[in-house]
Amino acid sequence: MPRPHPRVLVITSCTGEKQFKPEHQLTLDDFRDPTRRRERETELAEYACPAGDLYTGMQHLRLMEGVRALRDAFGPEVLEVEILSAGYGLISEHQKIVPYEVTFNGMKGHEVDAWAEHLGVHQAMEQRLVNADLVFFLLGDNYLRAVQLPIRTNADQTLVFLASGGAAQKMPDLVAHTFVLPLSNQDAKRYRYGLVGLKGFLFKQFAEAAVAQPNLLKQMQTQPELFRQVINQGLETPDQQLALTTLLDAVPTTPKVSRSTAVPRPAKDEFLPIPDVPPAPNRHLGMQYFIPDWDDRVDPTYDFLNDQITPDRDPYTDDVYAHQVYDVPNYDGILVSKVVVDGSQKKRARVEAVGIHDFIRFQGQVMGDCGAFGYIKEDEPPYNTVEILDYYENLGFDFGVSIDHLIVGPFAAPGIREKRYDLTIHNAQDFLEKHRAGSYTFTPIGVAQGWNPETYADAVKENIRIGYDYIALGGLARAQSREIIEIMQAVRPHLMPDTRLHLFGVARINAIPVFRHLGITSFDSASPLRRAWLGSEANYHTLSSKMYPAVRIPPVDGQGVRVKRLIEAGVSDRDTLKDLEQGALKAMRAFDQGTLGLEETLDALLAYDELLELPRDGKVDPAEQAKRRVKHERMYRDLLRDRPWKACDCVICQEVGVEVVIFRGNDRNRRRGFHNTRAFYLRFQELLAKLRDPQP
Ligand SMILES: [Zn+2]
Repeated sequence: MPRPHPRVLVITSCTGEKQFKPEHQLTLDDFRDPTRRRERETELAEYACPAGDLYTGMQHLRLMEGVRALRDAFGPEVLEVEILSAGYGLISEHQKIVPYEVTFNGMKGHEVDAWAEHLGVHQAMEQRLVNADLVFFLLGDNYLRAVQLPIRTNADQTLVFLASGGAAQKMPDLVAHTFVLPLSNQDAKRYRYGLVGLKGFLFKQFAEAAVAQPNLLKQMQTQPELFRQVINQGLETPDQQLALTTLLDAVPTTPKVSRSTAVPRPAKDEFLPIPDVPPAPNRHLGMQYFIPDWDDRVDPTYDFLNDQITPDRDPYTDDVYAHQVYDVPNYDGILVSKVVVDGSQKKRARVEAVGIHDFIRFQGQVMGDCGAFGYIKEDEPPYNTVEILDYYENLGFDFGVSIDHLIVGPFAAPGIREKRYDLTIHNAQDFLEKHRAGSYTFTPIGVAQGWNPETYADAVKENIRIGYDYIALGGLARAQSREIIEIMQAVRPHLMPDTRLHLFGVARINAIPVFRHLGITSFDSASPLRRAWLGSEANYHTLSSKMYPAVRIPPVDGQGVRVKRLIEAGVSDRDTLKDLEQGALKAMRAFDQGTLGLEETLDALLAYDELLELPRDGKVDPAEQAKRRVKHERMYRDLLRDRPWKACDCVICQEVGVEVVIFRGNDRNRRRGFHNTRAFYLRFQELLAKLRDPQP
């Protein structure tokens, strides 16, 4: 049955005002130490209540009025609320907590970053978003910072941010359809709310409009800018309406600026040194690359000249994966997380009907895991072993990973880590015993989690003792190569000649020789794919370590709010922008065909590009604009001079040509990601061949 409404999620922040104000509320120091936190929580147990009821700040009260209105009209399931708490991290409104005095407000930027990292806010947010179609963010600047944008989203999702003008300016490009409504402090005061309270009030306005127009939630998925229109409805007096209209018109709408810091620096040519220890006994097993799938598909007959998607296409059946675009897949296998399969009921039903191989149209090796980040905050994983064994078997996975529990960030604290370590080992044992007793045909993989080299080594040893010949190391996706090398040095002596060892979430060319020497036989990462649209300087990869930017030519008529904002700020008008946009596209294509020179092309690109420097306070800062021009002129000149897309013999660069280096929409950006994945895989293969036959 089709879902009547999109799955709506609201992310809001904790507020200072709480229902109970006992003395000795929990402090930051209590949250730093899990043992002490548990003791203190016991002391305050009489004040424990669901997070949704604890806060009494203006934003929260108004927000919850809107939430109730929607639930009364459409049922309790219509939306969920998650609270970003500076004490507890990202929690459900239903989670019972006790009063505390911790807030991100007032922390310095680096303190916000460090504490958010400790709480695992970014990962929790990414996983929480997986099962949502329409997400509202009601976060102040420091709370938004704690999320550490950009986050992983998909093209079927829609995000609405109610943010300050400053935060709106820094909003990075996201894959999801994004709408940002910037709010200014001064205007909020005029409206008799603090900026914080205003967000809750606006959500309530929206909720009431949605109750009156039951189609609105669905419409928001494709037209999130409707938010702005409907919040005025239902206001009682013309004065209120005028105030709100003035407020919203006074501030320009969304810019989308990519943070160059989001992308790691291009890989260096030097390889990390190999420690002076004998090679691992499993080296003859070689090394394989798996790519995690996240519905990475493109429209195969996209019309680049007119920027039109194929009419009436079904994204599930008509769109194609990278391995359908290329003759040979650019990976040895695909990793599919349960959390991605369960992305929607419709998707789950399709996968169940045809099996995982047919669903992703890939007959090579498919590995399944449970997506441990999705339940990182739970005391125990929400699955049982038999259920997961059956899931892997019924869907036709080639490899299935046992149910593990991550030991990272706040969950690596003493007391918690030991429990998770034991649970992971116990599950691995249970998984293998039941696998052997049943008639399962997929290959089982046991997981090793740990918090230092010794515990990882013990976990690997234990998995081997249990009887595994394929083991996966978890919780290291964000670890530095140096740390992973230390862990592998402790693990290596325990490996058997037939032990396969998988490293979750890490693909680093410069570390491959040392990882291989120490016993890693497979790894997975989507990093080459995702860099195509994350960051500004390393979007297009090559077979050397050289990387290029993609040329930003955002569509004037698209959903891009950057352009809207320029028009609203009076920097330019639509017709002028449209001329410059089309001029830039034409110039790139003429340059590609050899009918326009490099300097003329650069002029056309920069004429549009320099306008994209966003105005602050309604005015463009000439110094910032000049800086942007100098930087982009250097980057784009480099790209045009080298024409790397001409040198690439991959079918994407051959077929769509120069479009692949234009930063504009999913069909260009994800194709560039496919090309990057291929470049990575070819470099990886070349490196493996060299490692097999060392050069004299
Ligand atoms: Zn290519």
